[in-house]
Amino acid sequence: MAEETQGKAPETGATAAPHGGSGSGSGSGPGSGPRQGGRPGGGPGGRGKFFRRKKVCKFCTEKIDAIPYRDVRLLQGFVAERGKIVPRRLTGVCTTHQRRLTRAIKQARNIALLPFATKH
Ligand SMILES: [Zn+2]
Repeated sequence: MAEETQGKAPETGATAAPHGGSGSGSGSGPGSGPRQGGRPGGGPGGRGKFFRRKKVCKFCTEKIDAIPYRDVRLLQGFVAERGKIVPRRLTGVCTTHQRRLTRAIKQARNIALLPFATKH
């Protein structure tokens, strides 16, 4: 019989009257405008900190003392595409192991497991 009429009108949008005060000067002196002093930035110190991954020497963690130069797959992780040895700061290998790694890579090169660096 009676229709269910839910008279729920949808909310109308926010009725913000965009009527700025500046413009129509009607006698009032200058300098009475609302000053916006809110910076959206937030100041310095935004994203300066690059997250520090735990860079521990792989060989130290795995307790590899002598680096197997025949393990090409292992060595290739420390050699760039061109055959260059990746610097320590990128790999995170400690100094001791980096030296051993370098030697291992050079040995591997000698037996033609790894390519030499770019020839001139
Ligand atoms: Zn190490």
